[in-house]
Amino acid sequence: MIRKILVANRGEIAVRIVRACKELGIKSVAIYTDADRNALHVKKADEAYNIGSDPVLGYLNAHNIVNLAVASGCDAVHPGYGFLSENPVLAEVCARRGVKFIGPSAQVIRQMGDKIQARQAMIRAGIPVVPGSDHNLESVEEARALAAKIGYPVMLKATNGGGGRGIRRCDSEADLLKNYERVVSEAGKAFGKPEVFLEKCVVNPKHIEVQVLGDSQGNCIHLFERDCSIQRRNQKLIEIAPSPQLTEAQREYIGKLAVRAARAVKYVNAGTVEFLLDQDNQFYFMEMNTRLQVEHCVTEQITGIDIVQEQIRIADGLPLQYRQEDIRHTGYAMEFRINAEDPKNSFLPSFGRITRYYAPGGPGVRIDAAMYSGYVIPPYYDSMIAKLVVWNLSWEGLIQRAIRALDDMIVYGVKTTIPYYRQILASPDFASGRFNTGFVDAHPELLDYAVRRPPEHVAAAISAAIAAHLGI
Ligand code: ADP
Ligand code: ADP
Ligand code: MG
Repeated sequence: MIRKILVANRGEIAVRIVRACKELGIKSVAIYTDADRNALHVKKADEAYNIGSDPVLGYLNAHNIVNLAVASGCDAVHPGYGFLSENPVLAEVCARRGVKFIGPSAQVIRQMGDKIQARQAMIRAGIPVVPGSDHNLESVEEARALAAKIGYPVMLKATNGGGGRGIRRCDSEADLLKNYERVVSEAGKAFGKPEVFLEKCVVNPKHIEVQVLGDSQGNCIHLFERDCSIQRRNQKLIEIAPSPQLTEAQREYIGKLAVRAARAVKYVNAGTVEFLLDQDNQFYFMEMNTRLQVEHCVTEQITGIDIVQEQIRIADGLPLQYRQEDIRHTGYAMEFRINAEDPKNSFLPSFGRITRYYAPGGPGVRIDAAMYSGYVIPPYYDSMIAKLVVWNLSWEGLIQRAIRALDDMIVYGVKTTIPYYRQILASPDFASGRFNTGFVDAHPELLDYAVRRPPEHVAAAISAAIAAHLGI
């Protein structure tokens, strides 16, 4: 039985995992670097240990982390997302030291983390994949020959990429020649592996991904899909479940396809199978993420299932509590990644002190955040400081609720993506529920807004009044 978990992460996802532990009666252990001394996850966990002065390296040292897990009496490690979550070494070290890793096996992490191997596995399982390379490119000449065969536009992608980095669209041979070395070097720098491959570029696709859960007894189910088509530079901004753009028949088809994909690699724990849906309504496998995803919350809101608790149960060797036919979806949920960035200045990160924070609430509103009034956002990490998740029975009601919740949310001291999201919600093209990954680029006018920010003393007065009203 898992009784104590070391959370090998920081920020909102570490807080999220600690919350799941508390509800299961499991003790939690946080880790932090000097820069994260005042971070919320440190305050929320039962115990917390400093793992070094370098702001990042401590979170990446699998051996130290597992040593600490053993020394502090933990029986399991949860990797969250990012950092070591898709590094097979952490899973391996855990296995060697008799600590449960809350995720799939090292072998599956390695296989699916390599996009070429993942494509091969899917082709063998009869899953449609985007036409492209069947091995890593050896030279720019090989890239040129393959692109000529596939036809432009093509995508050059880092084989071991993630987080939207190491991907470039090439519209012509000249583009390809220009980008090849760039992507190789980007891949080497960002992922420590310079391998790249080529894929047909699906023009203006929808990003549709399916949440799956597999247990160690061989059961595998899906929790429906998420639509993550609202992206900037291949990075998700807004995620929705279920997709407002699928028919019930498409939903059933893609759910089954994802389960087939997961079964093909004997997938255990929570994972996500990502697909592109093209303009002719064809689905293509794109990649599989072998971890908890940032946007898992929207799936939780429509199904009522706590995915993190399920991950822990699965890692404990328990069978899934649900059969496929037990899983229902109700209403729509939408997640906004609240980033400390200035949308009006190319989304430049905006770190510093949060002078004032008031979280929105009311019906159908969930906040997963790692900030508080007075918190200083360190410059070393991801700029995502909170996730606002909104649920409603209808799509139209969801849009109205999202506008209201974003209006309720007060974050002062740093620039955020909140005003930009208000603009997106006001766009008829978004509200229509029909959009693709080209939406952000097709709507540059949405960046043209005046920041309506009441002066600091007004904000302080509003916060004080709300606090007084709530008796806090
Ligand atoms: P999700 O796939 O859950 O929607 P993202 O793609 O935004 O999430 O990634 C979540 C976090 O993990 C980000 O901080 C991102 O930079 C990081 N990340 C994702 N994949 C990798 C990878 N292969 N290597 C390093 N960091 C990664
Ligand atoms: P990551 O591992 O960084 O998440 P993905 O392979 O999932 O990389 O791609 C990230 C995003 O890039 C997708 O959501 C999509 O918007 C875009 N993309 C990737 N491959 C293609 C493609 N072949 N055609 C069109 N868009 C693509
Ligand atoms: Mg992806």
